[in-house]
Amino acid sequence: MTGTVIIAGLGPGAAEKVTPEVAAALDQATDVVGYIPYVARVVPRPGLTLHPSDNRVELDRATHALEMAAKGARVVVVSSGDPGVFAMASAVFEALEARPDLALVPVTVLPGITAMLAAAAAAGAPLGHDFCAINLSDNLKPFALVDRRLRLAAEADFAMAFYNPRSKSRPHQFARVLEILRECCDPARLITFARAVSTPEQHLLTVTLAEATEDMADMRTVVLVGNSATRRIGPYIYTPRSA
Ligand code: SAH
Repeated sequence: MTGTVIIAGLGPGAAEKVTPEVAAALDQATDVVGYIPYVARVVPRPGLTLHPSDNRVELDRATHALEMAAKGARVVVVSSGDPGVFAMASAVFEALEARPDLALVPVTVLPGITAMLAAAAAAGAPLGHDFCAINLSDNLKPFALVDRRLRLAAEADFAMAFYNPRSKSRPHQFARVLEILRECCDPARLITFARAVSTPEQHLLTVTLAEATEDMADMRTVVLVGNSATRRIGPYIYTPRSA
């Protein structure tokens, strides 16, 4: 009997931001697969096997999930936020492409609240008009592509959300990102650094591009760059719908 693979988003951190359908899928799972800190958010219970793994092994993890499902398991692959945003959903489909023998396993993707939307809500409405999301990690793509997308997004006056802005393995690359923005945008452009959104450590800081420094971001931060019309209204940041 063939089982199933459900790829589920756990949201940004808070339990109340896990959707009811994701909670139901976890209740019915026999196996949960994912990056160690995300699997740690799943409550253990009898009949459920947890398979935490390191973050560099996404494709192996995805193949493992498909193989277990092919043998009858109800596998949930967990991601933080939304599984389709710089996360496991694409990795599972890549694994499926490489293994035609697993094509019969039914795969379902359940959305979650992605970091940029939780951060935008906490700040006001900085992504209230056209925006784009850019993964600043160069693990899977060259930095030249990040550079090009940043410049074109700035030229098109998109608001932007940056995921994976900074890590121990590339501590100074975010300084380069700020330099690129300074070449393309006015120094008064607003930038919100939203750290650990929806957790007890949540911290939001909004500064101008002129004031922004590389140490304002870490791996738990999503960075929201306003467009040229983004402004403050009291404690809130918003982008008008017409800009
Ligand atoms: N699939 C996830 C993103 C995974 S990439 C999602 O949809 O949110 C990991 C990056 O997401 C982090 O480096 C950070 O930029 C961002 N992130 C994830 N959770 C966050 C949170 N609670 N607060 C702020 N940023 C977060």
